[in-house]
Parts: sequence; structure tokens; C-alpha cells
Amino acid sequence: MASLVWGTFGDPPIDTPFSFVLAQGGGRIVLCDCGFMNEGGGATFATRFGVPTWVSPLRLLERMGIAPGDVTDIVLSHAHFDHAGSIDQFPNAQIYLQKTELLSWVEAFALPPRFSILTDVVDPDDIRAALEASFQHRLTLIEGDRDNLLPGLSVRLARGHTMGQQFITLETARGRYAVAGDCIYSARNLTGEGCGEQQRYIPLGAGVGSAWDQLLSFNRLETAVGGDRSRIIILHDEARWSAFERVQEIEGMGIYKVA
Ligand SMILES: [Zn+2]
Repeated sequence: MASLVWGTFGDPPIDTPFSFVLAQGGGRIVLCDCGFMNEGGGATFATRFGVPTWVSPLRLLERMGIAPGDVTDIVLSHAHFDHAGSIDQFPNAQIYLQKTELLSWVEAFALPPRFSILTDVVDPDDIRAALEASFQHRLTLIEGDRDNLLPGLSVRLARGHTMGQQFITLETARGRYAVAGDCIYSARNLTGEGCGEQQRYIPLGAGVGSAWDQLLSFNRLETAVGGDRSRIIILHDEARWSAFERVQEIEGMGIYKVA
């Protein structure tokens, strides 16, 4: 828990799902983050993080009737392996991420090995895949906020977890939702539950940016959904997923409908 919510060293371990969001509309099939493949570099990370259950993102999408070639766009919150680890599986997808996110990882990898804790959660293969997509003219590097990057989909720069993290807002039939990426790991980052009497923001347990930036990003996230925390999709928060309708299941892995 202490790696998710700063200072919660006495709390027991919890299960943390790795998840991504499928958004469809206007003839586009969009992934907001894309999970990871349990092979090559991805398998190394799965072992290191002790991932007990893994279902291929391709299998999850197949269950939704979507083939890899059908995906038109992948909007990445950031480049950690569990969010960007399958971009090489979608040959037709345009990939979007913040320019600072990509370039900061290139810079961090170039530093001497004593800095390597910065890149502990980044798979070099994913950076290579992003560069490969650029050679194919399938990479869009964003600088800051972008309204309607795709119809009904906007991004907001939200540094702190990484140097170029962004969150994604989606306009749906049920109103606006925000895909938090790793701007927050848990609802407790916003509420401060279990972290003292006071309701206040609590920084992430793990991140390469500053606590200052993290808290400003928490506020941006809340503002984007009009202060309605139930409209924030927190990718690593199992309790939050359970609040949505579970429509499918593969080997214990749920597929949930948000809107
Ligand atoms: Zn992350």
C-alpha cells in the first residue's frame, strides 16, 4: 500500500489491477492506455512485480469483438510498462502521448546507471516501439492540454507521477469521465482516508516527479469532472472498478462498462 499512498507503511498489501479503457464513437476505436504483453521485456516486469494473473489485452479486446488492426488510436497517459506495454501490437493505431513524456525517458535512460531508479518501471522496448511508430508517421507528440484531440476526447497535462503524465477526459452518454492514468493510484490519494483525521490530498507512494506537481494534478483531475470523484476512472483501484457494471469476465479478469 505504501507504494500507492505516501506514508501508509502499516497498511496490509492490497491487490492492484492493471487496466486500460476502450472508448468507441464516431467510427473510431480508441484505447486509453493498453496494458502490457507478458513476453520479452513485459514478462521481466511481470516477474519483478509478482503479477499473479495476466490476461492478454488482445484477448480482452477480442472478447469485445475487436481485432488489433481495428484499433484506430491509442492515447497513452504515460509510458510505464503496464500502460504502454502493447503499443507494438496495433499496426494501424495512431499513438498519442506528451512530448515531454517520451523525451524525458530518453533523457533518463541516457543517464549513468546510478540514476536507473528513474526508469525502473519503463520498458526500453516500449520506447523503441514508440520511436518505430514515429518512423511510420503513427506517433503524435502533444505539448500540454489538447481539447478534442479526438472527437469527445481531450487530454490534460498532469505531471508528478512522471514528467509528462496526462489524463484523458471522455464525453459519454452519461456525461464526462476522466481516465486518471497514474495521476492517482487510489481514491485515498484524494480523500486521505486512513492517513490522519484531516481530509486532504496524499501524494503517491511512487513517482519520479514532485509531490507539489502531484497534488496540483490531483486538483486538475477533480476540476475536470466538476468535483465528482465517482467520474474518475482510477486504473489501479480495484474498489473503484467494482462500482461499475461487470459485463464480461476472462479467468477472473473483469471487463466493466462505465458508460
Ligand atoms: Zn505509472
